[in-house]
Amino acid sequence: MTSKQEWQVRDMPQVQVKDMFELPDPHLFVLAGVVVEGEVQPGMWVNVPISEVLTFRAPILEVETTTRSGREDLCLHLEPELGRVLREDGVEIRGQTVEITPTRITPKGSLNLYDPYEGHALAEQEFKCSQCGSLLGLQCNQDEPVGEGLSALAENAKRLGWFVPAAEADGALDLVTCYCPGCWQCKGAAPSQR
Ligand SMILES: [Zn+2]
Repeated sequence: MTSKQEWQVRDMPQVQVKDMFELPDPHLFVLAGVVVEGEVQPGMWVNVPISEVLTFRAPILEVETTTRSGREDLCLHLEPELGRVLREDGVEIRGQTVEITPTRITPKGSLNLYDPYEGHALAEQEFKCSQCGSLLGLQCNQDEPVGEGLSALAENAKRLGWFVPAAEADGALDLVTCYCPGCWQCKGAAPSQR
C-alpha cells in the first residue's frame, strides 16, 4: 500500500473507534472512542477508511467526553452523511484506528464526501447528463487504486464544466441531477428553467 503511505502524515492524532451511532436531534453521526495519540479538536478532519483504497474525510463538528459503560469515551460529532454511507456499504469500523488531520488535506485517492463532484463520482462512478445522456466515465487504470481514478474523474468533471448540484446543508447529495457542459450552458442561457 505505497499510495497510502505517501500521504500518511506523521504524528497526527489517532482515535481508536469503540462505537458509532446516530443522534436524532440534531441529526448527527457520532464516533466514540479513545485517543491513541495527540489531541483532537473541533474543526479537524477524521479520515475513515471505507475500503482498501477509499478513505472518506469528514469535518469534526464537536468533541465531547462522555462516560458510557464505565469507560470514558471521546465522542466525535460528525454530519450524518458518513453514517449513511457506512450503513449502506456495511462498513464496520469499530476497533479500527482512524487518523485525524488538522486541516482538509487532499491525500491522493481520498474522496471528500462533502464535495458534490467527488461524492457523485463515488456513488455513480460516472457522470451522465440527465438531459442528453452523454457520459463521462471512469478511466480505468489497473495500476491505479480505485480512489485515485474516482478523484481524477471528479476533477475532470469539474474542469470540463459539468454541473452537479451543491450538497444540501446536512451533506446529502442530489445524485440525479447532472448536466454535461453543453446542456448546462443551454440551461444557463434560460435560467428560469433551472
Ligand atoms: Zn447533456
